[in-house]
Amino acid sequence: MARDSQRSKVYRSERVVWHRQEDVINTTMGWPKDFDSVEDVQAYVNAVTKSKFWKEAGGRQFVHVAPVPDRQWARGWYNKIELPRWAYSKVVILHELAHSLALQHDYHDATHGPAFVFLFRRLIEQELGADERARYDRVAEVNGVKWGVSAAMRRFTR
Ligand SMILES: [Zn+2]
Repeated sequence: MARDSQRSKVYRSERVVWHRQEDVINTTMGWPKDFDSVEDVQAYVNAVTKSKFWKEAGGRQFVHVAPVPDRQWARGWYNKIELPRWAYSKVVILHELAHSLALQHDYHDATHGPAFVFLFRRLIEQELGADERARYDRVAEVNGVKWGVSAAMRRFTR
């Protein structure tokens, strides 16, 4: 299986569920805009990283929000997420935070593999509600996205 073979399916599913122009190739416009400043994004991220699930999942205590105004893409690392202005959206932020968590566990999983999707869905349910998570699940399933947990993750999946 090619490395990160689920990436395009994962991106497509998120666009169909939340992006307002899902047929547009340029994904940097049309995400719901939830925050106006990097300070507001940092406050939101701090709230997520204080949550019970985040702690149980072994996430870093502090995840730094770094603005990258000159770059097109958002990225998530262990203790830092890099966000262009278009990415000041809960859905995009939660995607990058799911990368932070997945990296934390050093899963033998492709970047957007089953463990990543599992963690993303948990964060979506916690932050946007069970209905949003169910809406994502339906689209992701149609798009052939797989999710699941590794043995190391089972302790916090109850
Ligand atoms: Zn990603």
